[in-house]
Amino acid sequence: MTAEPTVPPAGTLVARVVDATKSYGTGAGRVNALDGASQGIRAGQFTAIMGPSGSGKSTLMHVMAGLDTVTTGQVWLGDTEITHLGDAELTVLRRRRVGFVFQSFNLVPTLDVAANIRLPFELDGRRPTRTQGEWIDHLVDSLGLGDRLTHRPHELSGGQQQRVAIARALATRPDLIFADEPTGNLDSRTGREVLTLLADASRTYGQSIAMVTHDPIAASYADRIVFLADGVVVDEHERSTAEAISGYMLGMEESA
Ligand code: ADP
Repeated sequence: MTAEPTVPPAGTLVARVVDATKSYGTGAGRVNALDGASQGIRAGQFTAIMGPSGSGKSTLMHVMAGLDTVTTGQVWLGDTEITHLGDAELTVLRRRRVGFVFQSFNLVPTLDVAANIRLPFELDGRRPTRTQGEWIDHLVDSLGLGDRLTHRPHELSGGQQQRVAIARALATRPDLIFADEPTGNLDSRTGREVLTLLADASRTYGQSIAMVTHDPIAASYADRIVFLADGVVVDEHERSTAEAISGYMLGMEESA
């Protein structure tokens, strides 16, 4: 195992946890999903959060996205400390500053593609400005959704649904997009297309993205890979091949 991973200074980070713990249950049944994790997500980068099942990946992502709170420690989204915010404040913050891409797409089945993409504005009680409308049109074109705008999610393939979810996540130009196993429900070719789109969004638009995955191939599309084990960050690497990432994972399991 390498030395303690270093956390870059605030300002270059879009999300950050310091000494975060998250406990479930009490007494002998107590589980520390996070056990003193410190990590930052770098602005403008595509970061993969990897680790074995149960290592705390989803919990780390949920607390950084304001979907859940920590038991102890601190959490920032950009320069805002969100550690002690209540549900209502977190909801507003999420709507304005975070985009989500989930394994199960999470599109609204009764809305067509155009309305799904504009949903973050709708939920926030505002209409896209002209510039934002042009940006959405650009996303629709570049994601190849132009001839699907009046379709409902069930009329689309899995890959198309995930492209709609990516367009929706990018629509508000959020500080950070969290992607939770975004290729988990896709065949490998479609999965690669989705990963390329995420990597392109980061490179082309400077979109900060954090992706939870257990798949070394998915992680090989990221600029940086953060490894979790037992609720702590145990290692991190800059962009690596799937083979190298598999090797790091194997090393982690052997030394566990
Ligand atoms: P990963 O995403 O890496 O699979 P999770 O963050 O989902 O890991 O879970 C980390 C640990 O916390 C696991 O042992 C899991 O069982 C436990 N855990 C997660 N959520 C809950 C919960 N709501 N109640 C009890 N235990 C939980």
